[in-house]
Amino acid sequence: MSAAKRIVVAGAGPAGILMGIRLLERGYTNFTIYEKQDDLGGTWLRNRYPGNACDVPALNYSFSFQPNIKATHTYEGGRQLQAYFRELAESHGVDDYIIYNTEVVDATWDGVCWRITTGNGTTEEVDVFISAVGRLHRPRIPDFPGMDSFRGLITHSTFWDDSYQLEGKRLGVIGSGSTGVQIVTQASKEVAHLDFFQRTPQWVLPIENEEISEEIRQRLAEDPEFVQQSFNDLEVWLEEITNAVVDSESAEALKRNQDCYDALATVKDPVLRAKLTPDYAVGCKRLVMSGEFYRQVQQPNVEVITERIERIEPEGIRTADGVLHELDVIILATGFYADSYLRPMTVTGQDGKTLDDIWAKEYMNYKSVALPYMPNLFLINGPFSPGGSVSVLMIIESHVNYIMQLIDRVATENVAIAPDWHRSETLLRQVQHIAMQTVWYTGGCTSWYLDSRTGVPIVNPMSLEQLRADMKAPIFDDFVITPLPRAALR
Ligand code: NAP
Repeated sequence: MSAAKRIVVAGAGPAGILMGIRLLERGYTNFTIYEKQDDLGGTWLRNRYPGNACDVPALNYSFSFQPNIKATHTYEGGRQLQAYFRELAESHGVDDYIIYNTEVVDATWDGVCWRITTGNGTTEEVDVFISAVGRLHRPRIPDFPGMDSFRGLITHSTFWDDSYQLEGKRLGVIGSGSTGVQIVTQASKEVAHLDFFQRTPQWVLPIENEEISEEIRQRLAEDPEFVQQSFNDLEVWLEEITNAVVDSESAEALKRNQDCYDALATVKDPVLRAKLTPDYAVGCKRLVMSGEFYRQVQQPNVEVITERIERIEPEGIRTADGVLHELDVIILATGFYADSYLRPMTVTGQDGKTLDDIWAKEYMNYKSVALPYMPNLFLINGPFSPGGSVSVLMIIESHVNYIMQLIDRVATENVAIAPDWHRSETLLRQVQHIAMQTVWYTGGCTSWYLDSRTGVPIVNPMSLEQLRADMKAPIFDDFVITPLPRAALR
């Protein structure tokens, strides 16, 4: 084992970039961020499907220390968001620490350090390993019979090549989550015909994407107090949405529900409206947000198809009623394996315990950021991270600040830190108990919020305020702290 002390971060999306910023701020320079793609930005680099945008207001979909005051619209597109993260990484010098086209495929704890292996075949020993791989990155690709026989283009939304021209094409979109709805809303303006294959309708919360006036942008650029006030106001609004999830009888929930019902009522044709009407509670699935979807889905070039997909044929999609829907292009907006977390990476910790061992029955974790038997391995946005509408960037900020405190302890005392199993289990039971009172569990639907094996939520209904309080400082008594036979980290 070499004497060099190292930190490796997997992933150069928003979480990896912030981790890099904080490491540099605290004087840790011996680190590398491995990124499997050829550029930074994570989800905003990868996802380029038509209509790709963030349904959290841009000012809040940015880190609190650098609000995105350059946004031109309330809700920004994916490319603009990637530009924000690029600027962030470059202005803090983090881009110098990223190695691209390199995926961490295995991490093994040898009792003293982590042995990190990449897909390029390199292996190195590091003191701290941080996963910043994101939650929605492993595409769920359905296995329809005959999929390979399709003569046109068929692709998952996350692999969409945005140089492809949709104009004049017959497009099929499978899936009605946030992605499918964004695609239908935008692509329906471009294609000759769009068949929207909807297995389960979604509740849609109407939001208006307004242009931010030149005057407001000027004020944001010049007046930090105005920025802070605008940021805080939006945070209050997002908090209301989260409260609606936590308490389905609350005034916020009732208002949110009514907004969804009113939006659906704008669909004039009763047959189409019936097709688009969910039979489960509002908020059970992650709310889809769009001010335009219902208008677009009523356009003459759009058809909503609720018949089961039987197979894919060279000419298109055959539904169970025997109809062949002829298509040039099919986009699978079928979501992600949200419970894969670090996987397919393999991880082996103390006593030879693997990630699959630890997660054999449920997603054991400690406050979403650490795992028993996995010393000095820290997760950003791990299992049971908050759901609702807490901006993922606020989750990342809280997690990174917490992890920095763990790293400081590792560095100053030269120790291995892993959460105690029993303490982790106790906290997990508490979170599960609260999560099982929410509409995610009681609302009569399935979604990626639930553990696919048990049906129990894998997200935490905590508010932003609770998250910040909970993650303010580690309770070191909850951890097993073991001295290491090596010098301090920095
Ligand atoms: P998703 O919410 O999991 O939706 C997947 C859709 O595909 C569902 O409608 C599902 O139907 C359908 N589907 C899956 N397998 C199918 C099959 N074999 N046959 C027919 N239909 C099938 O995935 P997503 O839309 O990609 O969104 C995932 C999450 O990403 C969102 O909830 C959100 O958190 C995030 N996201 C955020 C934004 C944003 O603006 N911030 C944008 C896009 C995505 P069932 O409902 O019947 O399973």
